[in-house]
Amino acid sequence: MKIFHNKTELKKSIQALKKNQKSIGFVPTMGALHQGHASLIEQGLANDAIVVVSIFVNPTQFDNQEDLVKYPRTLDSDVALLKTISKDRILVYAPTVEDVYGKDVVSMTFKFDGLEHEMEGRFREGHFDGVGTILKRLFEIISPDRAYFGEKDYQQLMIVKKLVEKQNIPVEIIGCKIHRAKDGLAMSSRNVRLKPEYRTAAPFIYKTLKAAKEKFGTKSANKVTEWVESQFADQELLELEYFIIADAQTLKTVKRKHNKKIYRAFIAVYADDIRLIDNIALN
Ligand code: AMP
Repeated sequence: MKIFHNKTELKKSIQALKKNQKSIGFVPTMGALHQGHASLIEQGLANDAIVVVSIFVNPTQFDNQEDLVKYPRTLDSDVALLKTISKDRILVYAPTVEDVYGKDVVSMTFKFDGLEHEMEGRFREGHFDGVGTILKRLFEIISPDRAYFGEKDYQQLMIVKKLVEKQNIPVEIIGCKIHRAKDGLAMSSRNVRLKPEYRTAAPFIYKTLKAAKEKFGTKSANKVTEWVESQFADQELLELEYFIIADAQTLKTVKRKHNKKIYRAFIAVYADDIRLIDNIALN
């Protein structure tokens, strides 16, 4: 398996593949790979000849320095997992911060038609400018035909679609289903940091999302939100940051339900100092 730490070498390899009419899929990650990432890569391999997997903990998307420092970095086991998926159709790009940013580790500023002001944008200042900055750079380096993103980060997926539309980046963005542990917890690189009692408590998040979906059939968005908040008030180990029912396109919080609109519920929860997010389609 080829591992690149340098964008010039990676670009050369990709150019040669493109000359041979090989289509390029791209799965951007921050590493500490798990089955959720693997499901994106497998979807990529089903559509594209080659899948480039980037492994890069992007400093500009972290609003919390402690979270950035503690983010797991496990390149060797990541490569071992990738080898079990494919030995000859995956290229790994694991750059240094300098290879991506040069000396200026700063974000550009983006406007995503208001998507950036909702939910994660409200609670993580500058996060989506950091996400936009890194993805614009990675798309320029890799020039993929398709790029694969998880619905686990649904708001990010919508923002990436907006980014490529506004910046005229010629890449097809494909959304992929959320991959969950057997007990329902959405897989996340941060899960490995959960102490055992918090890991045991965490499936309550998805259990509550499923119950909220059920209630949304007959109750108003406000009533469901109040119910979820009351459920978390009784949880000792989980602290609710937000639960929001939003229009799945605009991500604006729902005030009144309309029959023709599509809705989704979004949640962010602290388990100890670890922030977990999840979401569910409601109709
Ligand atoms: P990350 O490494 O957390 O930045 O995630 C890289 C990509 O994998 C993003 O597109 C995520 O949405 C996606 N991803 C992370 N966890 C999951 C999951 N449990 N199921 C599906 N996709 C995921």
